[in-house]
Amino acid sequence: MPTFPGRIESRLPRVGTTIFTVMSRLAAECGALNLSQGFPDFSAPPQLFDLVARHMHAGANQYAPMAGVMPLREAIAAKIETLYGAHYDPEHEITVTAGGTQAIFTAVACVVRPGDEVIVFEPVYDSYVPSIELNGGIVVRTQLRFPDYRPDWAQVRALVTPRTRMIMINTPHNPSGSVWSAQDMAQLADIVRGTDIVIAADEVYEHILFDGARHESCARHAELAQRSFVISSFGKTYHVTGWKVGYVAAPRALMEEFRKAHQFIVFTVNTPVQLALAEWLRDASRYLELAAFYQTKRDAFRAGLAASRFALLPCAGTYFQLASYAAISDEPDTQLAERLTRQIGVASIPVSVFYDPPQQNRVLRFCFAKNDDTLLRACERLARL
Ligand code: GLN
Repeated sequence: MPTFPGRIESRLPRVGTTIFTVMSRLAAECGALNLSQGFPDFSAPPQLFDLVARHMHAGANQYAPMAGVMPLREAIAAKIETLYGAHYDPEHEITVTAGGTQAIFTAVACVVRPGDEVIVFEPVYDSYVPSIELNGGIVVRTQLRFPDYRPDWAQVRALVTPRTRMIMINTPHNPSGSVWSAQDMAQLADIVRGTDIVIAADEVYEHILFDGARHESCARHAELAQRSFVISSFGKTYHVTGWKVGYVAAPRALMEEFRKAHQFIVFTVNTPVQLALAEWLRDASRYLELAAFYQTKRDAFRAGLAASRFALLPCAGTYFQLASYAAISDEPDTQLAERLTRQIGVASIPVSVFYDPPQQNRVLRFCFAKNDDTLLRACERLARL
């Protein structure tokens, strides 16, 4: 009888450990200020924790309905309607997920068949490509143009074939901090019109746009909304990335397929947190004030780096700031990110890893979802370079 070889042939042969884990681990090892992985180093308001505890003590500790607790789905639908003027039926068109990453994976899993093509925009968030490949899809890459990270719509149009099954979009964009305009959404709509292409729209930074810019949700665009999974996350919005709760809104026919996969990927998300978030969502100021809150941090971080030799790229949204180090070093960004973590005690994310093959623009990503003191200390260290 043949024996088990002791290893399996990898389904993801070129994938290592995600850069976010690698850099956060290195930051912890070195005692560095961690501006790499995107999460706040400050706390959410304790009243939110009290709400979760209250629901736990009240006995809400068994499985939630597969699609999420109804009060949360209703609150999500109400928010989308108020902000984007789109009506999603909470019964059939909203599903609560274990964060944005699971929502993205599940959207791909329920749509993409082996051999189907999926268009992504580089620099591409690192979970998208493995989600496509694990489902047998073929990744087709277009680039957001350096240094403003605008989409090249002529290039996107040229990449569409009869096998294109999905386009994955992300605005506000991680890692670049760029934001799509209404014209961009119109271009996208024009390209997919008359096709059966589905859009997976990662909008987890929907509330973090600066200088008065408006978030162009796929939900806002009636024609795109018909074919879109609109994905968001409470982690970014309420400073609780570790809770891993997000959601998807999609028209009923799409959502039916999504739920078929969702129920066997996670089944459902933890109950007390969902109930607490349903109450928390009722106060719209909590998400409406987020843009101003992070704009202050962005401005403080940029002001702190103004005296450095980094060249700051525009940051229109998200809590990430890109900085070019072309005037500082010739090193590849992965090497510099490691060296800065070890030697000056500031961890960042090298942007080349979001390209295949890696594209070396000599840019690092810094997360400014940090206490003012953390940002100040990081700027002091970075300004010495
Ligand atoms: N979204 C976070 C970031 O961009 C990382 C989340 C994760 O580590 N999976 O930094």
